[in-house]
Amino acid sequence: MDNIHDVIVIGAGFAGLTAARELAHAGKRVAVLEARDRIGGRTWLDERMGLNLELGGTWVHWTQPHVWAELRRYGIGLAPSPTPQNAYWWNGTRAVAGSPDELFELLDRPNELLAARSREVFPQPFAPLDSTLLADFDGVSLLDEIDLLPIPAEQRALLESFWTLNFNGRIEDAAFTQALRWVAITNGDWKVMFEACATYKIAGGTKALAEAIQADTAADFRFGADVRSIDQDGDGAVVTTADGAEYRAESVVLAVPIQTLPRIAFTPALPVAVESAAEQGQLGLGTKVWFTIEGEHPAFVALGGADWPLNFFQSEYVADGKTFVIGFGPDAHAIDPADTAAVQRILNRLVPDAKVLESVGHSWVDDEYAQETWPMHRIGFLTESLPALQQPHGRIRIAGSDVADGWGGFIDGAIDSALKAARAILIAAQPVAV
Ligand SMILES: Cc1cc2nc3c(=O)[nH]c(=O)nc-3n(C[C@H](O)[C@H](O)[C@H](O)COP(=O)(O)OP(=O)(O)OC[C@H]3O[C@@H](n4cnc5c(N)ncnc54)[C@H](O)[C@@H]3O)c2cc1C
Repeated sequence: MDNIHDVIVIGAGFAGLTAARELAHAGKRVAVLEARDRIGGRTWLDERMGLNLELGGTWVHWTQPHVWAELRRYGIGLAPSPTPQNAYWWNGTRAVAGSPDELFELLDRPNELLAARSREVFPQPFAPLDSTLLADFDGVSLLDEIDLLPIPAEQRALLESFWTLNFNGRIEDAAFTQALRWVAITNGDWKVMFEACATYKIAGGTKALAEAIQADTAADFRFGADVRSIDQDGDGAVVTTADGAEYRAESVVLAVPIQTLPRIAFTPALPVAVESAAEQGQLGLGTKVWFTIEGEHPAFVALGGADWPLNFFQSEYVADGKTFVIGFGPDAHAIDPADTAAVQRILNRLVPDAKVLESVGHSWVDDEYAQETWPMHRIGFLTESLPALQQPHGRIRIAGSDVADGWGGFIDGAIDSALKAARAILIAAQPVAV
């Protein structure tokens, strides 16, 4: 098989797929090296408990311009999650049952106060991040900022849990700037931000969009190709996989989660700032669990304590006398997704009579090709790490949701960063006018 290409794309998540399509459309010979046996990366629609369930990334929104453009391009629509009828929450000392509007009302003022300066710090959320204001804010922890707010204890408890959900991780070291950027990008409206995060799925699942992009590229896909080294010399780059196969190309798009970079040996080494960003990693180290409960229940949401192993629940489907529910928690190692009894114990703190029948999930944190869920930034990431990650490293360009502007962390960010990486390679390859 021919192992010489113009560009090697490493990773077939949304970033890798998009980069491969762009480069192949421009006439480049492209190979995509993917360690898994499937495309999609941290999105994965798979049959569990009798239904096709999204085990990873799921929701998209029209405020996310890059993924929205892809959906329109391939004629793929949306599948709305059900509108919740009931809400349950932990007020810091006891469980409360009420309406979703009441829960939103409790979260409204705290979020308004928290994100009041979002548009000031991020006047243009996709623009390069060079303001001195940003430097001031990027050293601030989200939790410290929540602590400063003049709000009652119940609202503080709910706000902490809400942002623990958004980070899918502990928020002690969470960057306040990440929260501000999310709200800024939905024009300063935290409710639209939350709608973008958990309301509209892709019709046919993330798989439908990933397959549409893959079908639209002439790139040569190699699965089970776990890249372990990248050596650059004057002529190009040699990429070697775990089975010893070597691939040569002029350029490389490295579209893997940054947490996985230490698995690859780089010659020359990557800059210290990149190595240190990879070593420190992202804060999205939590879990997503799917489970069924007995009976067909009206749709509900539930927000538990920030330190619970599962702190948020959202029911998604009813079928065959069962209700399918998603649970999120901040620490992948605090609960085993298959431990039905543990899931039931936590759910029953808020929804006393619910009987959990079955539960499943994929541990992204223990998955060596991911090692994180959605990439949420620690303090200082935007100012200390992102600029270095976005630079070219010789013939290598890093792409992916981890290194995106704007909707970094989301499918949208993965696509955005890949469009930029592919464009940069195409521009660099053009003959210089004399
Ligand atoms: C539980 C969960 C829920 C989420 N919810 C949402 C959501 O609702 N909406 C949203 O927009 N986003 C969500 N996200 C985030 C979103 O899924 C990701 O940000 C996005 O899919 C990342 O795309 P990517 O291409 O940058 O990286 P990835 O999808 O991680 O793709 C990287 C690819 O590189 C491969 N790879 C890694 N190392 C190597 C190697 N050495 N050699 C070869 N291949 C390698 C991996 O196998 C993978 O296929 C969620 C993520 C998770 C995990």
